[in-house]
Amino acid sequence: MKTPAPGRHNREKVSDPLGALLASTEIICLPIEQLTVSQFLHQAAGILRKHYACTSIHLWMSHTDADGHRDIVGSDPNAPIDEPLPEPVLTLAHTAYLEQSVVSELEHGPSRDTPEDMRGRQTWNLAFPLLTAECALGAAVLHGIEDPDLSSLTQNVLRTLGIHIGTLIRYVEQLQVLRKENSQLIEAHARLLSRTEQLEATYAQLKRLDEAKTGFITVASHELRTPLTVLSGYSQMLASDPIVAEDAYRMQLVQGIQRGANRLRTIVDDMLDMARIDSHTLQIQPEPLFPAILIKSIHSSLHEILSERAVTFTLDPSLDKLPMIEADIDGLRKVFYHLMVNAIKYTPDGGRVWIWGREIKACSPSSERCIEIIISDTGIGIDPELQDLIFAKFYPMGGTAFHSSGSGKFKGGGPGLGLAIARGIVEAHGGRIWVESPGHDEIRCPGSDFHVVLPVRAASDTEIPEM
Ligand code: ADP
Repeated sequence: MKTPAPGRHNREKVSDPLGALLASTEIICLPIEQLTVSQFLHQAAGILRKHYACTSIHLWMSHTDADGHRDIVGSDPNAPIDEPLPEPVLTLAHTAYLEQSVVSELEHGPSRDTPEDMRGRQTWNLAFPLLTAECALGAAVLHGIEDPDLSSLTQNVLRTLGIHIGTLIRYVEQLQVLRKENSQLIEAHARLLSRTEQLEATYAQLKRLDEAKTGFITVASHELRTPLTVLSGYSQMLASDPIVAEDAYRMQLVQGIQRGANRLRTIVDDMLDMARIDSHTLQIQPEPLFPAILIKSIHSSLHEILSERAVTFTLDPSLDKLPMIEADIDGLRKVFYHLMVNAIKYTPDGGRVWIWGREIKACSPSSERCIEIIISDTGIGIDPELQDLIFAKFYPMGGTAFHSSGSGKFKGGGPGLGLAIARGIVEAHGGRIWVESPGHDEIRCPGSDFHVVLPVRAASDTEIPEM
């Protein structure tokens, strides 16, 4: 061991490998996981300064760090703070960095930091590269050392020290990148959490509103029923009054009232059905039923609508081959009524509507046998993006501009409940309903196929899914 010079720290000459070994060991022990590159450079410079006999030390990094900074300088505690490296020192550092070798040059006169005991002596600046296995990152510059004696041993020792420091800088950089990414991830996660919470709150609010709306519809529909019954009753009495019956004009007025009341009753009934489906209280009462008979009877009831429109309506003979099923007759009447009226409404004059059917296998877990009935038309068709949405309640695609009181008028939209009710009833039977259409085009009229699949044996305990 050397005896320390009086009043000075026990510091080694640059040519002595002991300084490098001690400095390297101490630098490796730095808490790199907590440091930025610049903090690491400062602390490493401080450690080198403790072990080497020189006036000051700078670690300079040319390499761009994780935050995009270049020319970061770490100075030992003795070096002037925040002062840029003097031009000749920076040039020396550049040379060591570019040539990846140890270089030195005679210092130009004593600096203000040169200790008393070294004044008047020739002092040198020395730079060695900071390296990783792949590249050079910068250089360490030692100021004011005595004759550096750049033997090949000294050069190897300093290069090795440079590799140790360079490798640690790389780790610090990588940790800095990881820390940055981690905090971005935490922020994104927090944002996502608050967005999810907002969405959940909005969903809960919408659900409450929807429930309130269902409640209101139920009450309003019940309230409307009483005056409607009175209106229908009085109009029937009027129609059977001989004075009205013999007066064509009065009879026409009364029939107009009756038609209006009937239409209103259909809408009120639809609203009540929808409210039942929404509140999961729709009950189906399965009875034996031949689908062909039901469809033929609905077809006959459409006589008036069809007489106003030039649409050819065909019932395919395949319907007669469908087996008897168990189903709620009133419910299915509503389903096929809505689908058949829609097919007429959305098909221009000169077009066609046809219904056909077939038996298929296993459409639901509760039934091995199912039937499929398809209502096809050569109408305006439906955009693929909307083919699911039209089954949501109050979803008339044409907007209120197309609303019409004439039930079969071309594109005469209703309250937007028909398909939602049809879906509710079909699913309550354990069946499925969907539409297939190439798209919406009022000129080419690509048409639509509405598919209804029903189990042969009704699943009376089927849960009605949420709409
Ligand atoms: P609406 O009372 O408006 O007819 P529906 O629930 O029966 O309500 O239908 C919803 C929407 O689906 C309609 O407004 C219409 O745009 C579209 N639609 C239903 N059936 C057909 C069809 N056969 N061809 C084209 N569009 C249709």
